Amino acid sequence: MKIIMLGAPGAGKGTQAKLIADQYQIPHISTGDIFRANIKNGTELGKKAKSYMDQGLLVPDELVVDLVVDRVAQDDCVNGYVLDGFPRTIPQATALDEALIKKGTGIDYALNVDVPDENIIRRMSGRRACVNCGATYHIVHIPTKVEGICDRCGSELILRDDDKPETVQKRLNVYHEQTQPLIDYYSKAGILVSVDGTKDMMEVFADIEKILGE
Ligand code: AMP
Repeated sequence: MKIIMLGAPGAGKGTQAKLIADQYQIPHISTGDIFRANIKNGTELGKKAKSYMDQGLLVPDELVVDLVVDRVAQDDCVNGYVLDGFPRTIPQATALDEALIKKGTGIDYALNVDVPDENIIRRMSGRRACVNCGATYHIVHIPTKVEGICDRCGSELILRDDDKPETVQKRLNVYHEQTQPLIDYYSKAGILVSVDGTKDMMEVFADIEKILGE
């Protein structure tokens, strides 16, 4: 099962993508995570991506398309995958389609996690990320056992630069301009399904399971 997650930054698509990956035993491929890992490791790609990410802008298409096309061609993706944060522009979507068509496959579902902007701004200011392992939490919805400390590795939690309110507003503007057109794109392709992302995390996942099946 090949799935694309759509939705504004902070809509909860990353959380749902992880739940889907666990439930259906397919890899979770997050381009944001890939960039953050590259930044942490000080790679050339990381250096290039960081300046865009810190400003709330999208990393240029040419830095992300090949990376994803190569990733989905790996062996662990034979039974499918869930793409989280890609595609984010129409050129990325067409590049992915072309790469998949060459292999005689295609995306099964574009799953849109729908949340209004005002909920997003409220939610994102509560997000926290681990400085070390990148695990994400929320001070209200996904609290850690000890405040400010990662459950997984015991490191400090921070509010990421790209989750700060001024950056969030900019990311939402970028989303509406560059990513939202994908909703129409996948709707025309007949594979768009939407869920109400304002519900509780597990209720959203239950709605997703109804769509994807057992
Ligand atoms: P995310 O964790 O998915 O919200 O991504 C964090 C940041 O990484 C975004 O705000 C972008 O700067 C960058 N990014 C992630 N995925 C993409 C993509 N497909 N295209 C361009 N930039 C991306």
